[in-house]
Amino acid sequence: MAEGDTILRLRRRIADALVGDKIAVSAPNPRGRAAGVERLDGRTLERVDSRGKHLLLAFGDLVLHSHLGMSGGWHLYAHGVPWRRPRSAAWAVLAGERAEAIQFGGPTLRVLPASRLAIDPQLARLGPDVLADDLDRDRLLAGFRAADQARGIGDALLDQHLVAGIGNIFKSEACFAARVDPWRPLGDLTDADLAAVLEAARAQMLDAVATGGRHRFAVYKHRGPCTRCGGGIRSRGQGDANRTTWWCERCQV
Ligand SMILES: [Zn+2]
Repeated sequence: MAEGDTILRLRRRIADALVGDKIAVSAPNPRGRAAGVERLDGRTLERVDSRGKHLLLAFGDLVLHSHLGMSGGWHLYAHGVPWRRPRSAAWAVLAGERAEAIQFGGPTLRVLPASRLAIDPQLARLGPDVLADDLDRDRLLAGFRAADQARGIGDALLDQHLVAGIGNIFKSEACFAARVDPWRPLGDLTDADLAAVLEAARAQMLDAVATGGRHRFAVYKHRGPCTRCGGGIRSRGQGDANRTTWWCERCQV
């Protein structure tokens, strides 16, 4: 699953490769044609934005909206370089003057009018982007306080309406860094506890952006004892979606 750090890196890479170019857009796979991506053919890519796990490519009054989920991907290639996946699998091919960006699959790929961004159900209800330059920490905290206080912090961190961009890796890693047990209910945590977890997620994800995602994880899929205290690392499904959480049963309280 691509978390916010992956999407932010992708945003920058696509922007560097294609922004300002007039883009030849094609849809080799029928799913891309159904999504209407060919409507963008010949337009100039003006800007690439991200909101949590959502990627938004602005082509004048139309926007290409992508969410990769568990299965989707974007590949970038210089012209003439062989692709790692077959052309027929590509939902969208965006060919600029210097490079091409290829989109493969995922739960969301669609073209929508820029004027709809502010009212679109998928986008308008997103919480603050944990990686935003101008992150409003008061609003972020207020959102967590307005949520069901019986929810475990590890579960709440995945709720994109509360905070956008955090996935399974960084929910576990952030709770570990802040020494907070991911099973503790929100109502049991102080504002300082909550802020510490959210700041840890942001710091770790920004670090992953800077290092290109080559990140060593402390608890996520970690085998062996805790590197901090020697205690046992446990994992168990959490929340309605039963997404696995990893944590140290000794040093996270
Ligand atoms: Zn530990």
